[in-house]
Amino acid sequence: MFGLFRKKKQLSEMTVKEVMGALHAKYPILVTKGIYEPPTHRCSRWILVSGPFYRDTDYNCSILVDATQMYDWAVKNTTSVGYSDERTEAAKDFFPEWVKEADSEDETVTLLDESMHDALKDWDIDFITFGWAKVWCPECKNFTGVFEKVQDEFQRTQDKLKCISFLPEWNCELGHVLRKESDEPIRFF
Ligand SMILES: [Zn+2]
Repeated sequence: MFGLFRKKKQLSEMTVKEVMGALHAKYPILVTKGIYEPPTHRCSRWILVSGPFYRDTDYNCSILVDATQMYDWAVKNTTSVGYSDERTEAAKDFFPEWVKEADSEDETVTLLDESMHDALKDWDIDFITFGWAKVWCPECKNFTGVFEKVQDEFQRTQDKLKCISFLPEWNCELGHVLRKESDEPIRFF
């Protein structure tokens, strides 16, 4: 499949956008088309990135991320990540200009549309590690402090891979399940 890129450029020299463009030209059905309508309201300080509100089935907790911290990450993310769904891709590209204007005085929670949620949900563990997120335990009816150690470690090392362990289950201080993988992991024998 990657043969189609070789005539012009090595795949490693192409940007994500170029790869997606080439895929779209060659296999239009592979890429889902759709028009994304970006939000017209101003983003408040806290964005609900994942949780039961979005029917994220693995989640009991709700993850709120501080929008005022996200701009640099969001800009970088537009060039380093590509989505085959055009609406998700457009939402990802729109995100930096939205968080750039986030209202730091407004402590309310902003909800994401479906495409924006799709573009951001897989990064929630990164946002927690960076120390930008608050994680709400619905059983405690409070934000949990269990990620503080991870956040301290990240502040020290600036290397998220040294801090994140992909546990199948996250728990709060009192053992309530915050997140649980719903699917059995695939095993190869
Ligand atoms: Zn709890």
